[in-house]
Amino acid sequence: MKHGLAPEQIVGWQGVSLRVPPDWSVTGFQGDAKEGYLRVDSPGSLVAEVRWAQAKKAVDVRKRLDAYLNLVERQAKKRKVPFTGRIKPSEDWQGALEFNYRADRKVRGFIRQCPQCRRVVIAQVSGDKDDAVVNVANLLLDTLQDHSEDGWWTWALLGLVVRLPERFALVKSQVMSGYLMLQFRNRYTEVTVERWGLADVTLKKWTLAEWAQQVAGWKRTRAQHTEGEVKMHPSVWSVGVRRAPTVWLRRKVERWILRRPEELRGAVWHCEPGNRIYAVRVERGTEQLLEQIVASVQCH
Ligand SMILES: [Zn+2]
Ligand SMILES: [Zn+2]
Repeated sequence: MKHGLAPEQIVGWQGVSLRVPPDWSVTGFQGDAKEGYLRVDSPGSLVAEVRWAQAKKAVDVRKRLDAYLNLVERQAKKRKVPFTGRIKPSEDWQGALEFNYRADRKVRGFIRQCPQCRRVVIAQVSGDKDDAVVNVANLLLDTLQDHSEDGWWTWALLGLVVRLPERFALVKSQVMSGYLMLQFRNRYTEVTVERWGLADVTLKKWTLAEWAQQVAGWKRTRAQHTEGEVKMHPSVWSVGVRRAPTVWLRRKVERWILRRPEELRGAVWHCEPGNRIYAVRVERGTEQLLEQIVASVQCH
């Protein structure tokens, strides 16, 4: 194995996860838990891609793979690139099919339907003609998981790793070089996870408590902030209620009739080794949920 190809970094999205080398990064994602796509790029020309689709019944994976490869072949023909491909049953997975094709890139992958969650997954690694596509594909695709065993999904990209109960759907995401934000919802409970880079620069200007109050979603709230610890890092734990006069009546009604907790809880911490600030905020959810999510974050 070439140095640096060890699949040490976890990438997780919509219940699908795989391990990739540390210097690879997520460059694209689409769709949701029902149907979606994830792309992870190496610093060179190797690319890992995973497509998934939920299915209620058993599907004919051969048919789906044929349709997929036909599409690839048609696209290659349009560009006047010769296409060769081959399909064979997988030795590792019963019912799965392995495929290799070569058009303008070399590709190795597989299709399978999980007997437990019934997701249909097409996963592949592609590269230029000099890339060790088969070796890398075998290494990475072997780590692919299409569901979680414990009901918690791992969401992991660009070094951020956090776990949430699978009933939480991703509703918003923002991926920038110095800022990452994922927002999830399950019924009325909302969870926001944020990460900022260059913590040393930020913390020259603000204290962590000021950062927590001003930036990490605690504006316009009536809240109490207490200093504490998260993973041995300095942190600020907050609890409060949103100050929003226009929705005051609606919230009161919600609280009385639906008995929804309306508190906001959060933790902000400074991970020195990673030079980052993390924030997790739970709106209308329990303290236990916040603690579990905070504990699941792998910050350095
Ligand atoms: Zn599965
Ligand atoms: Zn840390």
